[in-house]
Amino acid sequence: MRPFLIAGNWKMNGSMKSCQELATSILSSLNSDSESVRGNEYLISPPFLYIDAISRQIEKDVVILAGKDCSASDNGAHTGDISCEMLKDVGAKSVILGHSERRQNHGETSQDVAKKAEKAAQAKMAVIICVCETLEEREAGEEFEIVRSQILTSLPSGATGQDIDIAYEPVWAIGTGKTASAEDVEAMHDFIRNILNENLDKADEMRILYGGSVKPENAKELAAVSNVGGFLIGGASLKAESFLEIGREALLGQKDK
Ligand code: PEP
Repeated sequence: MRPFLIAGNWKMNGSMKSCQELATSILSSLNSDSESVRGNEYLISPPFLYIDAISRQIEKDVVILAGKDCSASDNGAHTGDISCEMLKDVGAKSVILGHSERRQNHGETSQDVAKKAEKAAQAKMAVIICVCETLEEREAGEEFEIVRSQILTSLPSGATGQDIDIAYEPVWAIGTGKTASAEDVEAMHDFIRNILNENLDKADEMRILYGGSVKPENAKELAAVSNVGGFLIGGASLKAESFLEIGREALLGQKDK
């Protein structure tokens, strides 16, 4: 079984200095390999411009660096885009795709996500594909159908469970302080697990992460939910103490599974 993933999405926050300081704090705790954090896998996704500098800070392989998007094309005439080749060149081994902020602010479709995921897979990068429903969709009782359609359309052809993770992030819980209840998360994660099992090879190896106002106070309860294989964390990943505390709480929660 793959380890529980604690993934921090720093979004478009910080400066070179503050991001390097945040990385230093996270790395010094993880490097000390303390009992309280060992057992999870850790990933951080700093702003693109700072990945290279942070990559140089990583001595032991204690944390995975991830981009927040990638081009579906190879290097060439694509102004403003960033290829998987470039991401790998500066030390990123993973890429987050289809985050709701990219779907909403950049009109990114599930078809776009599938093309990008295919390119990342060719580059042998790990991928986290985000899926979500809006509050209106949930209130209309459409959340399961929306998530099913996003998963099936966003997965690249020939996807297996080995290098792709799904992150379920209800839009109404992102950055709002409102967390989905453990019952809501369980219902959706079990539903996603069934979709994956029905449609993919090695689906068991695909982790299903939960994201949406995860914090130290709710991490233990959420980590104990069946089919929760990790967290994608925004706000609480911007402070080393809360990011690492979530890791500790998640370890406790996994024992309750
Ligand atoms: C996110 O943006 O991926 C996220 C889950 O944010 P937050 O933890 O701040 O809700």
